[in-house]
Amino acid sequence: MARKTPKSKIERDPIEIAGTKVLAGREGRVDIPVARLPTGTWLTLPVSVIHGRRDGPTIWLSGTLHGDELNGIAIIREVVRRLDAKELCGTVLAVPIVNVFGLVIGSRYLPDRRDLNRSFPGSKRGSLASRLAYLFVNEIVRHCNYGIDFHTGSGGRANLPQLRCELDDNPTRELAEVFAPPIILNSKHRSGSLRDTAVGLGITTLLFEAGAAHHFDRKSIRTGVEGTRRVLKHLQMIDQDVVPATPTCLSRQSTWARSRRGGLCQMSVELGDRVQEGQELAVVFESLSAKDSIVRSPIEGMVIGQLDHAMVNLGEAIAHVASIEG
Ligand SMILES: [Zn+2]
Repeated sequence: MARKTPKSKIERDPIEIAGTKVLAGREGRVDIPVARLPTGTWLTLPVSVIHGRRDGPTIWLSGTLHGDELNGIAIIREVVRRLDAKELCGTVLAVPIVNVFGLVIGSRYLPDRRDLNRSFPGSKRGSLASRLAYLFVNEIVRHCNYGIDFHTGSGGRANLPQLRCELDDNPTRELAEVFAPPIILNSKHRSGSLRDTAVGLGITTLLFEAGAAHHFDRKSIRTGVEGTRRVLKHLQMIDQDVVPATPTCLSRQSTWARSRRGGLCQMSVELGDRVQEGQELAVVFESLSAKDSIVRSPIEGMVIGQLDHAMVNLGEAIAHVASIEG
């Protein structure tokens, strides 16, 4: 008579991240040393490893590659809070703050002014940005089948929650449609980006953009949490109730409407508004002049990004309008 396999034997192997082992059915915190600050203090990359009891895919969730983009921190925190390693099929590697240096100084960049998301795949002996990119690829990305990288608008601009991916890549498009943000934009990988490197390694990667730098935005965070949970359920990693998807628009073309003068800018539209070609998007004016300069939409479409401050210069990007397919 065949003997029943002991339960411990059918459990998964531990996962090892930067020399730390996390057992199946457990959640572990790993702080990977990155570099010393000039003060001599070690700065570490904090990673939460939720290693499910049962087999399944491995997915990373990353935020704050740009040190001033915070929404991803709140999204990842909420997603992780609702996971249970004992129930999870597969593994979640959560890295809410990748650019630990940038966060500390409230900057998009590394202290050497380099952009981490243009420094991938990185190298062992390169610049600080290059070393951090190398560490992230080798300790996190290489373990994964999927990844979601969370960003916000930059440079004083706020984004409607959106995914950017190659719409012609079917597995990526399918996953993006499961995430179901208000809009999915076709976008080629940018050389040196995390997405470019991950896709090159055969990993299906989504890039989420929502809200503005330095802020938590509730709607963006909610959209990110609900979309990520739909993806985890679709990959059969969780068996929990998720919020059903609402319709998503697809776009292959977008353009910025720019100011034709310097001045003070008042928006006439909101993120997510549908606009006609030639429709007023914003008014730029001088404080003591009755004359307005109207910023108009160059195309028919949806407002997916806009300025979030009032002072503008000649040629400044005011609103990002995406044409909608179908
Ligand atoms: Zn970013």
